[in-house]
Amino acid sequence: MESSHYPHPTSEAVTAVMKGNRKTDTRPEVALRSALHRSGMRFRKDHSLKVDADRAIRADIVFPTEKLAVFVDGCFWHKCPQHGTQPRSNRNYWTAKLARNVERDGEVNARLAEAGWEVLRLWEHESVAEACKRVARRLAHIRRRPGRAPGFVRDAESVGGWL
Ligand SMILES: [Zn+2]
Repeated sequence: MESSHYPHPTSEAVTAVMKGNRKTDTRPEVALRSALHRSGMRFRKDHSLKVDADRAIRADIVFPTEKLAVFVDGCFWHKCPQHGTQPRSNRNYWTAKLARNVERDGEVNARLAEAGWEVLRLWEHESVAEACKRVARRLAHIRRRPGRAPGFVRDAESVGGWL
């Protein structure tokens, strides 16, 4: 979706940003996945979640047992408050497109929440260590919830030890 039908940018910097923001397997995402894996966390990558009968939502990293969907948002595409920039050419196009992306993020969050999923959004600019910690913390939090099976609690403790 994001990679198709945009007017070709004139600035080399923007081209570089867009090349770094391909739909799957962007570098921050790959680095985070290997860090999570090294820490013993098991997940599905680039996984489609069925939120209702006719709609699926793709998340970057999915923990099915905990029902946690993790997104690694690109600073350019998702308008990071620190690094979000707008190309100078085709300004109207980009303003609308980036605003639409942010709006869609909100819709995705809401749909996932309705379907009983937790959503964790990370920025691509976050360090791998910090991102990894945030994922582990959220997983531990979910697993500690009352009503979880004892097996999950044991897992949470080992994750807590790693933190
Ligand atoms: Zn950023």
